[in-house]
Amino acid sequence: MESRLARTTCYFADGHDGFDRDGFAHDGFAHDGFDRDGVARTADAAHAGRLAASDAGYFADGFLRCFAGAAGLRRSPGAMINRGTFARLAAIGSACEQFLDACAAAGSPAQVVSLGAGLDTRWWALHALGRQPRLWVEVDQEEVVRRKALAIGRDAALHGALPEGAAAASLERGAVSSAAGYQLRAADLRDVSALEAALADAGWRPAEPTLVLAECVLVYLPPEAAAAVVALFGGAPGGGALAVYEQIGPDDPFGRTMVDNLRRRNCALLGLAACPSCAAQEARARAAGYSRAEAVPVLEYYEAAVSADERRRVERLELLDELEEWRLLLSHYAVALAVRDGRGGADAPLGALSLRAPVARLFPPPPARGADPPPS
Ligand code: SAM
Repeated sequence: MESRLARTTCYFADGHDGFDRDGFAHDGFAHDGFDRDGVARTADAAHAGRLAASDAGYFADGFLRCFAGAAGLRRSPGAMINRGTFARLAAIGSACEQFLDACAAAGSPAQVVSLGAGLDTRWWALHALGRQPRLWVEVDQEEVVRRKALAIGRDAALHGALPEGAAAASLERGAVSSAAGYQLRAADLRDVSALEAALADAGWRPAEPTLVLAECVLVYLPPEAAAAVVALFGGAPGGGALAVYEQIGPDDPFGRTMVDNLRRRNCALLGLAACPSCAAQEARARAAGYSRAEAVPVLEYYEAAVSADERRRVERLELLDELEEWRLLLSHYAVALAVRDGRGGADAPLGALSLRAPVARLFPPPPARGADPPPS
């Protein structure tokens, strides 16, 4: 059971085990002429996981397919993976929703920086709702950014949301700049000055509150690089929040196999030994300057935060009889939320952000049927 589980966890988080689909080779990753290394390929795997869960009815995201090409998945990874993807999106979506609501309530501009954003579609979903923040910056490796920029330039639904249209996708620079607030930049996160330069170029203002999304990315960085990245935001004068989702628990049999499997796939979890637990996640955020940090295993998050009705709904979608395996898998991932208010004090706008805020449905939700598209 152990090796099947460990394969599963690679599949779930970062590198999966062989969807068969048109245009995608048996290893599950796109083979379209780009030279990408093992870590860059994890963006495709994470995207494929979301697409499968969306197809299975866990949530709706009409923009996912825009990044997947015409061909869809022919085979779902199954209930355990899909449910795990749902739990992951519930946690990160909740952080986004709370942050955007808190900034709106305080009349404060909001900025979101998504580190290792991969093929994330959230900005388009927020834009469709008219809820995008002043600035949404996505940073990833150059190769991933080029592919994403190309997809944006090609797909009418994606570039149609940018007022400048397809011209906004500056493919030569491998970047996208849009007056609508969407910015896509290449930077190697192991080099914090390169990250700072990319953010400055994208219009990031350290004096305004920033939500940092780090979904399965810090764990790939050497520990000192991850700490430097977190400190860049933890020390920013505008304060903000940090939402992390990544592997923990490398020291038990399951964890050891997970680590070995990912190393063999050229996506070594370089930061895991230095940040192996929820307590270590909290300590890293506090050391970086966040005043409050909480981390829990994703299993605990799912059971505590996702409403009973929503859990009942998703648990009816597909039969999951490997409950013990599901619990083991989800206890090897942590979700963390850290907060630092730029102004401090009892009325601090981000003071109410909570890791365990109840989730009744995933955020961002799809636009209501028949709703007019929001003005750009
Ligand atoms: N956050 C996205 C999601 O959940 O779909 C993608 C997650 S994927 C597992 C990890 C991402 O981190 C990949 O897109 C990868 O290219 C990016 N990444 C890893 N190391 C990086 C680095 N040193 N610099 C920039 N991006 C990096």
